[in-house]
Order: sequence, then C-alpha cells, then structure tokens
Amino acid sequence: MTVSQLLIGDSWVPSASGAEFTTLDPATAETIGVCAEAGAEDVKRAVTAARTAFDRGTWRHLPAAERGRLLWRIADLIEERADSLARMETLDQGQPLSFSSGISVPFAVETFRYYAGWCTKIEGTVKSVSIPDVLAYTTRGPVGVCALITPWNYPLLLASWKLAAALATGNTVILKPAEDTPLTTVELARICVEAGVPDGVVNCLTGGPEVGQALVQHPDVDKVSFTGSTQVGKEIVRAVSGNLKRVSMELGGKAPSIVTESADLEAAVAGNLEGGLVNCGQTCVAYTRFFVPRKMADTFAEHLAAAAATLPIGHGLQEQTVLGPLVSKAHLDRVASYVEKGIAEGARLVGGGARPGGDLAGGNFFQPTVFTDVTDEMTIAREEIFGPVLSVMPYDDIQEAVTRANDTPYGLGASIWTRDLTAAHRLAADIRSGMVWVNMSPLCDPSVPWGGAKQSGWGRELSSSGLDEFTEEKSVWIALRD
Ligand code: NAD
Repeated sequence: MTVSQLLIGDSWVPSASGAEFTTLDPATAETIGVCAEAGAEDVKRAVTAARTAFDRGTWRHLPAAERGRLLWRIADLIEERADSLARMETLDQGQPLSFSSGISVPFAVETFRYYAGWCTKIEGTVKSVSIPDVLAYTTRGPVGVCALITPWNYPLLLASWKLAAALATGNTVILKPAEDTPLTTVELARICVEAGVPDGVVNCLTGGPEVGQALVQHPDVDKVSFTGSTQVGKEIVRAVSGNLKRVSMELGGKAPSIVTESADLEAAVAGNLEGGLVNCGQTCVAYTRFFVPRKMADTFAEHLAAAAATLPIGHGLQEQTVLGPLVSKAHLDRVASYVEKGIAEGARLVGGGARPGGDLAGGNFFQPTVFTDVTDEMTIAREEIFGPVLSVMPYDDIQEAVTRANDTPYGLGASIWTRDLTAAHRLAADIRSGMVWVNMSPLCDPSVPWGGAKQSGWGRELSSSGLDEFTEEKSVWIALRD
C-alpha cells in the first residue's frame, strides 16, 4: 500500500484539513494507495511556494547547462526506478505491464533527456530594425508559476511531457494528477526533489477536480497546461478570465481512420486494431471511426472482430495481457452505456459488447467491441467513448469519406491506410487534425509536436513547439546614442 502526502515548498505534508482519499487497482477494486486530499488552503500554500521560488530566481537564473544536468539527473532516476514505476502505473491505471515498462516509463525518461538538451538552446534573436542607432533583440524567458493538470490515461507520461518542458524553460510548477491515478506523479515529484531541484520549484497536489479549479482560478498562477476532456477544457477557458493567464490544452478526440481501396486489408486490420485498442481504447488519439470502402467493409469488420476476440484480457501485471481494465467502475458503466446506445440506434454488433465473466467479473473489464453499419449521426460515431469500442463506417466515394471524417468537433489524430502515395498526401492535407499517421499506429516521439485542431485543444506539446508554450518572448530596445 502506498501512502503519500502533498509536496509544498520544501516539505511533504498532510492536507490542511487532514483529508485523504484512496486509489484502487482497477483490475481488482482493491485499495492500493492512500493520498492526501488537497483543499483550497493547500492550493494557496502551493501557489505561494511556487511564486516565492520563481521570484527568488534560483531556478530560472541557474546556468542553462546546470538546469540541463538536473533534467538529465531526473531522467536517470526515473530509469533507475523503471521497474517499480512501471508496476505502480499498471496497478494504478490498469495498462499492461508491457506497455508501462516498454513505453510509459522509457518515454518519460526520453522526454526529460530531450528537454535537458534544449536548456542550452533556448535563444532569442537580433532584429534588423530600420531605426538608426537602435539595437533591438528578443529573449525568451519563463512564463512564471504553471499549473500542470493531467488526466488518468497516461499519468507518468503526460506529467513528464509538461514538467520537462516547464522546467527546461525555468518555470516553477504545481503538478495536479488525476484523482484516479495519482501515484506515479507523486513519485515523479519525489524524484525531482532527490535530483536536487530547488525547494518550491516543483510542488505536487493530489486531489479531485476542485484542486484543478482552485489552481485555474488562482490569480498568482500565470499559466495552465491542461490535458483532459474538451468539456473541462471549456470550463478552464471560462475560469481563467480573472487574470487572463496563459492556457494550453490537449483535449479529447474521435480519430477517423480512412482505409482506401488500395490498402493492404490485413495490415489495415492489424494496425487499426492496435491503434484502436491501445490502453484499452483509453487513448485520446485512439482510432475509433473506420471509414472503409463499402465493398470491403463487411470483410474488414469481421476480420477486426475476429482478431479482437483473440486478444488476452486480464490484469495488467499478467505477462500475456493485451487488454487491461478500464480505469474505474464509473468509466466502465459509461462505456457499457455507449454500447447499449449503439445497439439501440441501429448499429450492427459484430463482436464483443459485454463484460467478461469468470475471474474478471470483479474488475472493470470490457470486451473489445466492433460495430459496423455505423452512421454519422449515431452517438457512438459522434461522442468520445474512450474505451474498446470500434465503429466501421462504410463509404462509397473517397471525397465523401474525407467530408465525413471531418464532420466532428474534434481534430486531434487521424489515420490513413493506403498503398497509393498520392492519396496518402492528399488525404493527410485534407483531414482537419493536429496529427495524421499513415499506415501505422499512433506513435509519438519527443521531437514531434503533439496536439489538436478544432476542439481538441490549443497549442502543442513535445518538440521545440512545446517550449514555446512555456516561454514569454520579450523585445528589448537599446538606444546606441551617447
Ligand atoms: P478530465 O477533464 O475529467 O480531468 C482531467 C484533469 O482535470 C483531472 O486531473 C481532473 O481532476 C481535473 N479537473 C476536472 N475538472 C476540472 C476543472 N473544472 N478545472 C480544472 N481541473 C479540473 O479528463 P479525464 O477523464 O481525466 O481524461 C480523459 C480525457 O482526457 C479524454 O477526453 C481524453 O481524450 C483526454 N486526453 C487528451 C490527450 C491529448 O493529448 N489531447 C491526452 C490524454 C487524454
């Protein structure tokens, strides 16, 4: 059982009210952790600690190479603890151990190393002004106190994306993990302290949505970096008007996957299955709407369902598991209600559609589910389900497929399956989304920008674009006259 407190300034402390909450293993419903539950008073203290640390300047004025070394040290410590962090992530979030140890933890390490290298390369420019005897240049400095609010689907990974970029640029932060999956973020905060990050630069508050709300409204928070649902993203935009703090947001998605007539059908089935069911479909860029030529749609749906039915479901710690549990009972019920709606609205169920029984009955498991003959107006085609529910949507003409793929308020990820190079480039240009993957599942890399168009978010994470979100550009004018 893990027991954790709040990191505020230089100390780990209980919440001011003494409140605590538990976190469960979603595969068994057993309690695996007890965390301090922050309240309004703790938010005030954490923001004060972050503000004091920012104003003191020890972090932002630290020589860039030293800041880089500290980020590298954080990466080393994550790597040293890779096994226990991966196990903790699997127990708290449910993702298979092969994923937490093969992707979540190594990617967190790589993200800190990537941004460690950037610390010495955050530069301004000298401008070619047309005014005589004037020098004008720009610098890029930190924004200030940043609230980093994360969701429950990739806790360590997403906290690392935000934290590494925020620290590389000299900001101070308050980490606020999701209430369902706080454990690895608390460990990350512990690692930062151990690595030698100065007091107050990294603070960590565990708790529910009210903690996020209080951070967003706090006048001394200069920036909110949020990953979560589009609905909460909109609430945040309304709430930041008090001091017009900076906001960047990675929000929901409903990724289309367009299969063209020239596609290798079996490769498309295998790739879409992987892209649709990664982390049991609890992935913002998971492929969910499969636009398939009408004459190929039945074969595609049947092969997809047959392959899905072979995937081992189980506790993430079991070696063979490919599909772990959904994160909570509430989320399981939500996913099940979408499946009921799909059936009620006339979609044809090809496979899955229920909870597995037997040994798995006590956890939040759901069978991978394939529907076909899904039409654009059905709820399962419009709303983000965030579970293992895949919808095949037959089309007659490729231009129609693009129009329908774009007929969504979301614009995060999209996928194309084709052997026609021209079609690949044309479709990639025509789909309104922040990211497009051609003939592959939705991978990411620290060097490639991540983010969404339309209601899938504002700004980008990772890459040099991720640094822009945490810096403020300043223009400096110098008169060169005596
Ligand atoms: P959520 O929006 O319910 O919560 C996310 C975080 O915000 C949690 O820490 C929560 O406590 C906090 N929060 C809730 N209400 C708040 C408020 N009013 N003000 C401030 N903070 C608040 O999202 P979730 O259910 O944890 O995560 C799933 C969602 O995240 C999905 O929509 C998914 O697509 C999205 N997501 C997007 C990306 C991306 O890169 N675009 C990545 C992962 C997840």
